[in-house]
Amino acid sequence: MYDAKGHRCLSPRRIIMKTSADLRNLLNSIHRKSYPAYKSLQGEYAFADYRLSIDHVQGDPFASPSSLSLFIRHDKANFPEAFRKDSITRTALADYLIRQFEKQISHYSFQAKGSGKSGLLSVSHCGQEVLPRTALKITDQGLIARFHAGFPANGRTINAPELEKILFQYLPECVKKAFFYSSLSPREVKQAIDLAEDQTAIRRELKARNLIAFVADGSILPRQSGVSQRPMKNSVPFSSPKSLKVTLNLPHRGELSGMGIPQGITLIVGGGYHGKSTLLNALQLGVYNHIAGDGREYVITDDTAVKLRSEDGRFIKDVDISLFINDLPDKRDTRRFSTEDASGSTSQAAGIVESMEAGSRVFLMDEDTSATNFMVRDAFMQQVICREKEPITPFVERAKALHEHAGISTILVAGSSGAFFHIADTILQMDCYQTRDITSSVKELCKEYPPAFQGVPAFTLPRSQRIFAPAKAASGDRREHGRPMKTKVRGKDEFSLGHDSIDLRYVEQIADSEQTASLALILRYGIEHYADGKRSIRQIIELLWKQLEDKGLDFLWGNSYVPCGYAMPRLQEIYACFNRYRR
Ligand code: ADP
Ligand code: MG
Repeated sequence: MYDAKGHRCLSPRRIIMKTSADLRNLLNSIHRKSYPAYKSLQGEYAFADYRLSIDHVQGDPFASPSSLSLFIRHDKANFPEAFRKDSITRTALADYLIRQFEKQISHYSFQAKGSGKSGLLSVSHCGQEVLPRTALKITDQGLIARFHAGFPANGRTINAPELEKILFQYLPECVKKAFFYSSLSPREVKQAIDLAEDQTAIRRELKARNLIAFVADGSILPRQSGVSQRPMKNSVPFSSPKSLKVTLNLPHRGELSGMGIPQGITLIVGGGYHGKSTLLNALQLGVYNHIAGDGREYVITDDTAVKLRSEDGRFIKDVDISLFINDLPDKRDTRRFSTEDASGSTSQAAGIVESMEAGSRVFLMDEDTSATNFMVRDAFMQQVICREKEPITPFVERAKALHEHAGISTILVAGSSGAFFHIADTILQMDCYQTRDITSSVKELCKEYPPAFQGVPAFTLPRSQRIFAPAKAASGDRREHGRPMKTKVRGKDEFSLGHDSIDLRYVEQIADSEQTASLALILRYGIEHYADGKRSIRQIIELLWKQLEDKGLDFLWGNSYVPCGYAMPRLQEIYACFNRYRR
């Protein structure tokens, strides 16, 4: 037997649900008791238009607020079926609804008074990207909305009438205004859904046309500031050079023209401050869909693209970097390279090989954040230091073979070295924020500056043998005293798991700290359930990814309730975490 959420019911008894009247009575009975009596509220209650579930009650008014969820049947919420027919429309609708709900509850947060976090109401804050989140899930039966509330207290004494205000006045109002189609702007809802379908169509077209990225004419690429991801006002809109212009026919928007970046090696050059990094940044986030009005909603990049950069000091384990680095003076084996403290060049070499394993078809690099000696070596230097004395085969000598033998394209911002002109298939110049295609004129010039590459070692695909065996226990049982390892998330850039911390500062394509929160749980799940001392990183991640694709993030909580505050990461960032976990 299944309940309306699609959960299997253990016994018919669970069908007899408590009502909102029961909840009111319970609230009356615990007023002025000490805080832990709030725990008795845990459970599900039928309201007129939805079901309210009190999933977890905080331990005291200063602790993380309580977790609640709502289940609203489709015949109540009443969104057209076309808006929830598949995962694309569901993700877009869910994102739109979280934003509406946040708007509504922000009016009421802290309206109920008391000590500590009393009266707080919060849900995920969505940025410019549209991501699947645990805050709102659309099932075949209805909407599940998850959020946090601080249960009110005076000191540590329960103030039940204040919670009653939240649950019986504020919340019903918020639900009606945010989750009922009849209270929303049908035009805006449709715009969000249509945009998602158009973005999906662009991704499909990229593949069909052998393109790796599309930047629509009129896109606004620069951001307001380092801390604001909103579009810059009065900036120069993007316009495609004629030679790269493609016109796509989208299901809702119709014809849309812009620049199509072909597979192969694309160079972005130009003087300082002319907009090179701005274009690359837009491309690296083009792996995600953006909301209407962002300016980058029609900037779409192959969704396996990985931004690579040097990452001094990072941890590397068992990576075959022999494609780039060989014959180290200390005779270390670079076909199975490990270090606690990588140099710029070894970190970038490892990043490339790991990204190949993670299925990336596009590498994005900026010379400014790359290790110089990894990228190029000029002719003069080759004269002075002969090949045999130089362990590094620079990226410039490998990029073409990466495309030819491994199908991986590169988009590279170059400001100082001309060596890449020889291998580039497409050369773009940023000139006062305008993009020009200068491929043919530069190729003419190339004849006058012969390339310096000579005696490049043969290209063989890397073969890393990376068993994922966390050092402390090989048995697969990594629980500390039977409890799951503690995770702690510090913004987008770092999380800790047990005693280890994972530095993600240079994993630039994490868009949201809720993705980081999920990454911590995914890594922990992999360690606790799949790391048996025999499986490789890839095997473990394949097992995890299959579950994520089938069930979304929910499986991470097993039989326990699913909290709000988690967003779906990409496969490539999951690899990035496993690769950086010291083992
Ligand atoms: P580069 O990498 O070529 O040195 P950036 O991409 O860092 O240049 O851009 C330099 C500055 O110009 C940034 O402050 C950026 O916000 C601004 N900028 C970039 N593109 C535009 C644009 N299209 N219109 C207006 N300002 C822009
Ligand atoms: Mg730059």
